[in-house]
Amino acid sequence: MNKSNDVSLSSLRTRHPKVYIKTFGCQMNKADSRRLEEIFISKGYKTADMVWDADVVVFNTCSVREHAENKALSNIGSLKVLKDKNPAVRICVVGCMAQRMQKEIRTSLPHVDFVVGPSKMFELPILIERNEKGIHPDTEETVKVFYEYLPDIIDNKREYSGYVPIMKGCGNFCSYCIVPYVRGREQYRPKEEVLAECAVLAKTGINEIMLLGQTVNSHPDFKSILRETAAIKGIKRVRFVTSYPGKVDRELVDIVRDTPALCNYFHIPVQSGSDDVLKRMNRDYTTDYFMDIAMYIRKQIPAAAISSDFIAGFPGETDRDFEKTLDIVKKVRFDQSFTFKYSPRPMTRAYEWEDDVPLEVKKERLARLNEACSDAAQERNALLVGKKVEILSEGGNSGRTGEYKIVFWEGDPAEPGAEVEVDIKKALPHSLTGRRA
Ligand code: SF4
Repeated sequence: MNKSNDVSLSSLRTRHPKVYIKTFGCQMNKADSRRLEEIFISKGYKTADMVWDADVVVFNTCSVREHAENKALSNIGSLKVLKDKNPAVRICVVGCMAQRMQKEIRTSLPHVDFVVGPSKMFELPILIERNEKGIHPDTEETVKVFYEYLPDIIDNKREYSGYVPIMKGCGNFCSYCIVPYVRGREQYRPKEEVLAECAVLAKTGINEIMLLGQTVNSHPDFKSILRETAAIKGIKRVRFVTSYPGKVDRELVDIVRDTPALCNYFHIPVQSGSDDVLKRMNRDYTTDYFMDIAMYIRKQIPAAAISSDFIAGFPGETDRDFEKTLDIVKKVRFDQSFTFKYSPRPMTRAYEWEDDVPLEVKKERLARLNEACSDAAQERNALLVGKKVEILSEGGNSGRTGEYKIVFWEGDPAEPGAEVEVDIKKALPHSLTGRRA
C-alpha cells in the first residue's frame, strides 16, 4: 500500500463519500463487485456513476486471459491523471489480477493505493478506513469480512436479478487455467446460508436468481439447492453457471425438466472435441460423456439452450483434433458459444509447455470455429421465429428468455424485472427481435 496520505480522503469528501467499481471478467467477479458495493454502502458510501465523481475507485480484475489483464492494466494506468488532479481519491485494484501481479502493480503503477486479492477484497472498506486513521493494516490483527451472507446490508432493490455465489475457488487444476492459483481451492457455502440469501432477495422483489460458482455443480448440495431455491415464493427463474461437464448427469437434466422455475439453460464448457486434448487439459470427462449428456438434454428438453466454451490452438492440438471440435459443434448445435485462442497463463502447467500451434493457425481455427458456432446459434434461434416468448425485461426494450437469449422488441418499454411477451419476428446468431404482444 502506498502511503500517499498527505491529503486525506475524509478531509476532502462530503458526508457520503462515493465509490465507483469497474468489473472485468466473469459473473463471479460481477457478483463479488456487487457484494463489495453493498459493503461500501453499509459503511455510508454512495455509488458514483462516473469515475471522476468518486472518492474511491475500485477495479475488480480478471486474470483468466492475457487480454483481460492488459485491458485492466491500461485502464488502471489511465487513472494516474485522476490521481494527479485529486490526490485524495483512493485507487484500488482487487480480484484475480491483483493477486497474481501484486508486486508489478505496486512498482509500475504507484498511483494505485490498494492492491487486494480475491480472498481479502471484502475487507477493502475497512482497510481504507484504517489507512485514513493512519493504522497500518499489517500491524493490526486481520479483519475478517468473509464471503458469508450479509443480510443486514443487502439492498438489491435496484436490481431484477440476484447473483448468489454458492462456492468460490476451484481445485480442478485444468492445465491452462489460473483460477485455482488466484482464487484458491473450492470452498462451499452452506446450503442454509444460500437459501436464506435467496429468500431475502425474493422479498426485495427480485424474481430471478443466478447461482454462481466456477464449477457450480460440484457443490455437494447442488441439486437440493436448485430444488429449494426454485420453490422460494416470488422466485420465477433460477439459473446456474458454470457447470463442470464431468459432473452434469442425467438426474440434473431431469430436475431442470421437472422444475418450472429452473431455466432451460445449461452452460457446459466442453473446451475441445478431442479426447487427447481434453486429457492434456486435465479435464476428467470424455467427448462421449459430453455428447451423451448434450443429446439427453436435447431429447428431454428440446427447447433448452446449451452453451459452451472452446479453446482453439491448445498445445499439441492437431488439425484432426480441431476437426473433432467442429464435429461436436455441428452435432450439438450450441445456442451460444464463447470461443478463445489459447494463450499461456503464468503459473499454470500448460505454461511450461511449448505453445506450438502457430498464431496464424490459431487464428484460422478460431475463425472456422466462430463460423460454425454462429451458424448453429442462428439455426437454434430461428426455431423461435413466429413464436410468442416470455421475456424478463432488463429495462427498456430488451430482456432475456428463460434460455438466456437476448431479445429486442418494438413497442412499449418495460421496467427491469417486468415480464413481457414478445412475438419473435427475426433471428440473428446472437439475438432475436420482435414486437411486444
Ligand atoms: S474447472 Fe478448470 S477451467 Fe474451470 S475454473 Fe476450475 S481449473 Fe479453471
